[in-house]
Amino acid sequence: MNRQDQISLLKRLLNYVDTRTTAMAARPWRNEVSVYTDPERLADQGRRIEAINARYAGDGIPFRVLRSIEMDVFIDGSCDMDDDALAGLDLVLGAFHSKLRVTEDSTERYVAALRNPAVHVLAHPKARMYGRRVGLEADWPQVFAEAATLGKAVELDGTPYRQDLNVEMATIARKAGADS
Ligand SMILES: [Zn+2]
Repeated sequence: MNRQDQISLLKRLLNYVDTRTTAMAARPWRNEVSVYTDPERLADQGRRIEAINARYAGDGIPFRVLRSIEMDVFIDGSCDMDDDALAGLDLVLGAFHSKLRVTEDSTERYVAALRNPAVHVLAHPKARMYGRRVGLEADWPQVFAEAATLGKAVELDGTPYRQDLNVEMATIARKAGADS
């Protein structure tokens, strides 16, 4: 398939979907002691996405890739990204990637994460994984009401081993008015 065929196919495909954007989320890089994100690699990804978007615009394709990251949010709601790196992004997902086997109520932890001003979306909120861990417990109506109040979204992660939020929790989130 040549380039003109690709452009024409993409334009035709866009007639069948409502979405006009997709997010390309950088993932944290893991070293021995912590999870961190290399600002240089993030900036490089941003430049490559800008080039892709410029090509779409030049070809008349009404589609845009968002510069995004899924960053760690720690138990107190803080993150390890600096404001400059985050300022260049269109969409910031915050996710818990540690202390995922605690059994006590984690409502405060969720509220703290949602109140982190950098976070737009709480990713795979329950942190459950089939066959590995049951995920966190919280007062879900309260958590999702907080998300709705703050205008934050909660992710529906459709990865088969996550399915997080699942249908039951997504229903609670919808009732609370949270976007997903
Ligand atoms: Zn994650």
